[in-house]
Amino acid sequence: MPTLTLTPSLSHSTIAKLAECPTRYRLRTFTAWEGWRKSAPPEARQAYRLKQMKSLPALIGLAVEDACRWLVGEAKGGALHPPSLAVERALAALRRQWKEHESEGWRDDPKSCTAVMERYYGDACKVTEVRAKVERCIGDFHQRLLARLVDAPLLDIEPFGGFAWQGLRIFAAPDFAWRDDEGFHILDLKTGRPRPEHSAQLDLYSRQAFEADATLEAVRCELAYLDAGESSHELVLRRDRCGEPVAEGFLRRGRETLARYLVDGDVERFEPLPAAEWPMAPVSACRWCAFREVCDR
Ligand code: SF4
Repeated sequence: MPTLTLTPSLSHSTIAKLAECPTRYRLRTFTAWEGWRKSAPPEARQAYRLKQMKSLPALIGLAVEDACRWLVGEAKGGALHPPSLAVERALAALRRQWKEHESEGWRDDPKSCTAVMERYYGDACKVTEVRAKVERCIGDFHQRLLARLVDAPLLDIEPFGGFAWQGLRIFAAPDFAWRDDEGFHILDLKTGRPRPEHSAQLDLYSRQAFEADATLEAVRCELAYLDAGESSHELVLRRDRCGEPVAEGFLRRGRETLARYLVDGDVERFEPLPAAEWPMAPVSACRWCAFREVCDR
């Protein structure tokens, strides 16, 4: 079996999470490493299990995105389904995951068997509001976006697997991308509220598109907030903005933050400083953290 090595990588969400709680990044990245192996030390196994756990909002987001992609694929094949069918598909996926949690299969196989963070920690969660949220999100997608995507020559998202930048692998994959007479388009679906880091996410997607296609002049980006039934203003990102490539400042700040917690500040060597050197988030952030069980706080 080939040996896996821990390679330094960043994405828009890991940059945001690293800024919020360096300790959580350490637990996710270094403590959990190789925790998928039965022979791994117990703390690695435990951290890896916690890393795989999903919060209810994250599961809703994944189920809605999957149902929306399914609607597009079906419509492209000539089957235009009502939104209710996609809603039932998303809810069936969520019910399956809820049951998976009950089965406790995640104790042995956390990668393929879902554990729900709120249930694991006994947190309050608004299960009764799940159906209404899924209906709002898929209804909005069906009404505002589906027809546009059915007509669009969608690109395979797989090549958006990431790009190399200054010794790091950068991951950035949007939900949909296509190229037509008006240019290159990126559309990302959101089921939660708008957050400031979302615009940085668009920057990374654009950067990825520019890395993949040297002839590209501009990328049109859209964030669709399905629960609110609105999109962010369409943003056109150009190859060269304010004298720097798109996302350069965001990536540089993320790299600098990461280097602060690595031996000799060497990102390519990617060796963590001792745990005591990694700061913790303000207590208010711990409420949403999957690593509460192993954190020394
Ligand atoms: S419990 Fe709090 S301090 Fe500990 S890793 Fe999670 S967010 Fe950070």
